[in-house]
Amino acid sequence: MPTPSTAPGSLDPDDWRAARAQGHRMLDDILDYLEDIRERPVWQPAPDAVRRKFRAPLPLDGCDLQDAHLSFMQDILPFSVGNAHPGFMGWVHGGGTVVGMLAEMLAAGLNANLGGRDHVPIEVEAQVLRWVIELFGFPGDASGLFLTGSSMANLIGVLVARTRALGAEVRSRGVARLSPGLVAYTSARAHGCIAQGMDLAGLGREQLRAIPVDADGQMDLASLAAAVAIDRAAGLTPFLVVGTAGTVDTGAIDDLTGLAALARRERLHFHVDGAFGAMAMLSPALAPRLRGIELADSIAFDFHKWLQVPYDAGFIVVRDRELHLRTFATQEGTYLSRGERGMSAGSPWPCDFGPDLSRGFRALKTWFTIKVYGAERLGGMIARTCELARHLAQRIGETPELELLAPVSLNIVCFRHVGTYDAAGDEDTLDALNRNLVVALQESGTAAPSSTVLDGRFAIRVALFNHRSSVREIDALLDATLALGRSLCASSSISRAIGSTL
Ligand SMILES: *Cc1c(COP(=O)(O)O)cnc(C)c1O
Repeated sequence: MPTPSTAPGSLDPDDWRAARAQGHRMLDDILDYLEDIRERPVWQPAPDAVRRKFRAPLPLDGCDLQDAHLSFMQDILPFSVGNAHPGFMGWVHGGGTVVGMLAEMLAAGLNANLGGRDHVPIEVEAQVLRWVIELFGFPGDASGLFLTGSSMANLIGVLVARTRALGAEVRSRGVARLSPGLVAYTSARAHGCIAQGMDLAGLGREQLRAIPVDADGQMDLASLAAAVAIDRAAGLTPFLVVGTAGTVDTGAIDDLTGLAALARRERLHFHVDGAFGAMAMLSPALAPRLRGIELADSIAFDFHKWLQVPYDAGFIVVRDRELHLRTFATQEGTYLSRGERGMSAGSPWPCDFGPDLSRGFRALKTWFTIKVYGAERLGGMIARTCELARHLAQRIGETPELELLAPVSLNIVCFRHVGTYDAAGDEDTLDALNRNLVVALQESGTAAPSSTVLDGRFAIRVALFNHRSSVREIDALLDATLALGRSLCASSSISRAIGSTL
């Protein structure tokens, strides 16, 4: 007996069979995109005509799903930043996987809200937390949760440290009434979100000291100890040190064991920004480089970078569960009251450990990724991106027109085109050449590095995070860099610096 499958006003399909067929077409199209991605340019600029299509007025009448899908295929898909493409080597972007994508679709269908209540999706998140605890050698009762990304996770780290320093009463009385002049420390190469965390926590960006780094890009521990002593002598209260496991510029890893010892001696909260680098724990070859991370009081990291989980999937893990809870839990809101049984059981809820009440099921795509690929294969993939970086560094070393600008610690390579031998000394000219080169590479669609500035020198920055990248893409990048570098040199005022080698 047919039962009506839609309620009046419901947004469900009138024709489930047609919706199913359309859904399968959409799935096929996006699988085609991933399977054939090497045939596409990494990135291409969006024409104005395409951008104008996204300035339409609010649609009063809807359109067919099929038409919206067509718009996606024509106007959105070709003009994304291209981080799924193996030639994408800019910033710190994961490439995503088919497994993660399919899991995300299941999560959207279930439409679970992981703020709280008693359901197994929260068990899935707790399972991922237990894996994280195992990976980092944290105590079994450590707490943690998914967030959008490491920017938020680092903010949580700062807030937990603030509770430790000022007590939970800071939440009601405010920083201004309690502040004894809290000061935090991180390296000069730390990510900008650490300063943002100090800002959002009401502690002030100026209360974060940028400690100089050594030639390897690691925070200088003697300078750190000196800065703490100076601040104490000035009557300030040092409360937090943030180490970086994988700096965004060059992939440098701070001496985490040394930082942990100093933090203990000085009674500072020891937080690690492991945004991408922390996932190197999955590779037995790389994990020893992160020694000391197990001593952290909290770690922020992302599954959406090196682990390839589709955006977004950041995470924070905190050693002291009570401290974490005291930073966020409230007794307010009768609509959020907890029970022993029924759906309001299972307290504390994830919303007691962070600022979000409504939370998506980020855990599912992460659980699928780790379960389907397994830790060994994921660790191997991470190690391979580091091998590619070493291959690139070696080829740069063999090429007179190119110069390596920083030691290669993990999977990030910073270099520049030097024009020719007699260009040496004219740094402005080289900066201009390399600045143009990065844009030309991106516009070529062949390879898409990004850039940074190291010790005042403009660098082409190649960050190998994509599991699809291979030696082929590295060699294509080098060929394109040399060819474009040659034509840029020939066509611009800097040609005066060009000798016979080009
Ligand atoms: C990417 C990154 C961040 C910021 O993380 P999001 O996930 O982009 O918010 C922080 N620190 C480092 C070292 C990073 O690489």
